[in-house]
Amino acid sequence: MRLQRLKERNETMKNLAVIGYGGMGGWHVQHAQKSDAVHLAGIWDIDAVRRELAQSHGIRAYSSLQEVLGDPQVDLVTIAVPNDVHRELAVTALQAGKNVISEKPVTLSCDDLSAMFAASDEAGKLFTVHQNRRWDVDYLAMQQICNSGELGEVFRIESRIHGSRGIPSDWRREKEHGGGMLYDWGVHLIDQMLLLFPDEITRVSCEFTHITEPAVDDGFRLELTFAGGKTGYVEVGTYNFLDLPRFYLQAKKGSARIRDWREPCEAVRCKHWKESDVLPVQTAAGLTKTMAPRDSVTVDCYELPIPHSDVHDFYRNFCRAIDGKEQQIVTHGQMMRVMRVIEAAFASDAAGQAIAVSI
Ligand code: NAD
Repeated sequence: MRLQRLKERNETMKNLAVIGYGGMGGWHVQHAQKSDAVHLAGIWDIDAVRRELAQSHGIRAYSSLQEVLGDPQVDLVTIAVPNDVHRELAVTALQAGKNVISEKPVTLSCDDLSAMFAASDEAGKLFTVHQNRRWDVDYLAMQQICNSGELGEVFRIESRIHGSRGIPSDWRREKEHGGGMLYDWGVHLIDQMLLLFPDEITRVSCEFTHITEPAVDDGFRLELTFAGGKTGYVEVGTYNFLDLPRFYLQAKKGSARIRDWREPCEAVRCKHWKESDVLPVQTAAGLTKTMAPRDSVTVDCYELPIPHSDVHDFYRNFCRAIDGKEQQIVTHGQMMRVMRVIEAAFASDAAGQAIAVSI
C-alpha cells in the first residue's frame, strides 16, 4: 500500500534515523513504521538501555552517532533529545551531509538558531523543526474561521492549554536542559498564533508561573499585540483543576470557542443588533440589557465539522522538499519568528513589564 502510493506519485522513500529513543523518539519510530514517505533505518540513543529496548522491538540500534552519520543510506535524521542538545546534534548532522528535523523547540535562542541555519546553508541540506501541532484539528478549525471570513475580521484569539499535574519531573524541570513550559507547550501555541495572525508583533507581555517549580516556568501568560491592534493571548497552565476553553476567538461579526481539543468548534454569527428590542434580564443586583443573552432572532449558532488532518503530511512534505518538489512547510523565517517571541517573553517576564518589539 505504502509503495503503491509512492509509485503513483513517482517518489522514493527516504531513509530516516531517529536520534534519541525516548518518549518522542519512540513516536517518530512508530510513525515511520507506518509512513509512506520514510523508511526507518534505525535509532541512536546515548543510553544503552534505550538501544537494547529498540533492538528488542526489532529496530536497528546504531552503535554511535558517528555510525549513523557515516551511513550513506541515511538521508535524514530526526533529533528527539532534550532541548539543550538540539543545536549541537543538528549542526553535526548537517555538517555530515544529512537533512535534519529537530524536535521542538528547535533550540533555546536566536543565536543558536542562526548557527543552525548557517550549517544548513553551508551543507546545502534541509533543516526544519517538527511543529506537528499545525495538524491539530482544534487549530485547523481556528484557521478555517480566520481564512473563510465567515465571522468577519478576527481581532482577538485566546489559546490556552491547561493541565493539573504540575511540570513533568524529568529534564523539563531543569533550566540547563531548556526546561519550562514556554519551551515545551508554549512553542506550539506561539507557532499556531503567528500563523493565525501573520501581522508584525509590536508588543510582548509575559508573566511566568512557578507554582510547582521555582527553577523554570511551569506555566505562563503571554499577550501579543500586532500592528493594527489585533491581539493574541497564549496561556499554558499546569495547575488548573478546571480548565478554560482551548480556543476563544472574537471577530467583527461573531465569536467562536473550542472548549476542549476533543470537541468541535462552536461559532455564533450575529445577524441583527436589534438593540431597541432587547429585553432586560434580572441579575442578583438588578436588571441589565448590556449582558442580556442572545436569541435565534439575532444570532446563528452552529458547529464546524471537525477538519480533516493527516499528521503524516509533515514527513511527506519534508521528503518532497528534499527532492526539490515542494517548499518545506515549516520555514526558517517562521522558526526564527517563534524564537524571537520566546526571547521577548523571557525579557518581559524578567523586566516585569511589557516590552516594545518589532517581530
Ligand atoms: P525523553 O527524556 O523521553 O527522551 C530523550 C531521549 O534522548 C532519552 O532516551 C535520552 O537517553 C536521549 N538522549 C539524551 N541526550 C542524547 C544525546 N546526546 N544523543 C542521543 N540520545 C540522547 O524526552 P522526550 O519527551 O522524548 O523529548 C525529546 C524531545 O522531543 C524534546 O525536545 C521535546 O521537547 C520534544 N517533544 C516534542 C513533542 C511534540 O509533540 N512535537 C512531544 C514531546 C516531546
